[in-house]
Amino acid sequence: MFDLAKYTKELRILFESSRNILLISHVNPDGDAIGSQLALYHYLKHKGKNAEMISPNHLQEFLKWMDGAEEINVFIKKRKTCIKLIKEADLIILIDFNQSNRLGEAEKYVTDSTAIKIIIDHHQDPFNIANLIISDSAKCSTAELIYELITGMNGEPFKNKSYSEAIYVGIITDTGNFEHGTYTGGTLRIIADILDSGIQKDKILDVVYNNFSADRMRLQGFALSNRMIVIPEYKTAYIYLKRQDLSEYNHIKGDTEGFVNLPLSIKGINFSALFIEKENFVKLSFRSKGDFPVNEFASRYFSGGGHVNASGGEFYDSLENTISYFLTVLKENAGKLNSE
Ligand code: 5GP
Ligand code: MN
Repeated sequence: MFDLAKYTKELRILFESSRNILLISHVNPDGDAIGSQLALYHYLKHKGKNAEMISPNHLQEFLKWMDGAEEINVFIKKRKTCIKLIKEADLIILIDFNQSNRLGEAEKYVTDSTAIKIIIDHHQDPFNIANLIISDSAKCSTAELIYELITGMNGEPFKNKSYSEAIYVGIITDTGNFEHGTYTGGTLRIIADILDSGIQKDKILDVVYNNFSADRMRLQGFALSNRMIVIPEYKTAYIYLKRQDLSEYNHIKGDTEGFVNLPLSIKGINFSALFIEKENFVKLSFRSKGDFPVNEFASRYFSGGGHVNASGGEFYDSLENTISYFLTVLKENAGKLNSE
């Protein structure tokens, strides 16, 4: 059973005794990673603490508007500054991930650091890469967990516009605007408080969700028409995109975000995969409905991980060989897929 009160107390003590607190999100940070990181940052700053932030790589456009986003040091852009921040930190908080390879190029420096390390996360099966692991996979998002921890430390909900916006973005993006994920009545009560605090919900929803380029919309149409394979006997559908497809549609980072969810809207499809061809490997995303654990599938076959219904991984081979390997391992899972 997750003991929120115990973790709140431990976290408060560690914050009080630390001088340089460093908050690090994961590679290709999503709305939950950045929302959680900024929420914690605003709270710590308000408490007069010295807090700094690192993201292993660049933020996507739809997150750059957030208050404090410009204070996030991007490791691959400001290596020297980031290495210095890691060396100087006496407390490092790893946010929204639980495997050290999600730190990208910052991994080596964080591993070498003698700072106290804390994971705050909601993925299953955390690796033992921290002194304190605050992880609750029952939470829909890390932002929800951060909200509860901060409310506990603060004695009441922390009232601050930038903080509320950051928590809101974390929760809406990790639940696909309340379409999926483990959100509960408790999550919606947090959202209710945040809405009551007066954030501009419509403006936020617009900047987060309605910022696609025309090319991106056309790429989605192309992917569904020309690159989606449906395998009804395995209740599975997958989409693959070649490097050439991406360049024809002037692809920019983040354009394929959300594509993996689309096949799950087909009646009878419970498992969906997305293959994106990279220079020397294939990036995979998996989604499922029901009990098929795509995190186990990703970790067993594709060196990845994630949640029961949303995971990802990678495969160092050609796109063709990756798909053929996928089809082989899909057969091995036919029993599980058909019991759904
Ligand atoms: P997405 O498909 O949106 O990239 O990722 C879905 C979930 O899978 C994320 O919450 C993330 O935690 C996890 N994930 C994606 N790619 C990887 C990967 O390469 N390794 C691991 N361990 N998890 C991943
Ligand atoms: Mn998350």
